[in-house]
Amino acid sequence: MAKTPEERRADKAEYMRRQRAEHPEKYRSKSREFIARHSDRIKTERNARYANNKADIRAARHGTTKALLDAVLVQQKGACAICDKPLAPWPSPATHIDHCHDTGHVRGLLCRSCNLKEGWVKKHKARLFAYLEQPPAKVIGELA
Ligand SMILES: [Zn+2]
Repeated sequence: MAKTPEERRADKAEYMRRQRAEHPEKYRSKSREFIARHSDRIKTERNARYANNKADIRAARHGTTKALLDAVLVQQKGACAICDKPLAPWPSPATHIDHCHDTGHVRGLLCRSCNLKEGWVKKHKARLFAYLEQPPAKVIGELA
């Protein structure tokens, strides 16, 4: 019985896998030659793919999607979740993905300023509140 096109493709793929395993240097050098011959086209196509999918590629680095970030921005009424400054849709450089550094989960979208301050406050909040309660000038009696 004749093989289906899918079976023929699977046979060819298996044959090529065996060939590459048995003659790795031959295929490595063919690959290098191909890359050298077509490097400009490869770079152009890679850059075009990145430009077309930049938002999703960068969102994936945060374990999320552009669609989810768009939904978060709608939930935040188009503004920074902390200071209400209007935000451009992500991946605008002015719109930052705030995420938990322990779990990697996205918490929301923030402006650059709030994203930086959030991390700083989280790191220093105990000393910040202690400072506000007992500023050094108050300790030496200069403030009431
Ligand atoms: Zn903000």
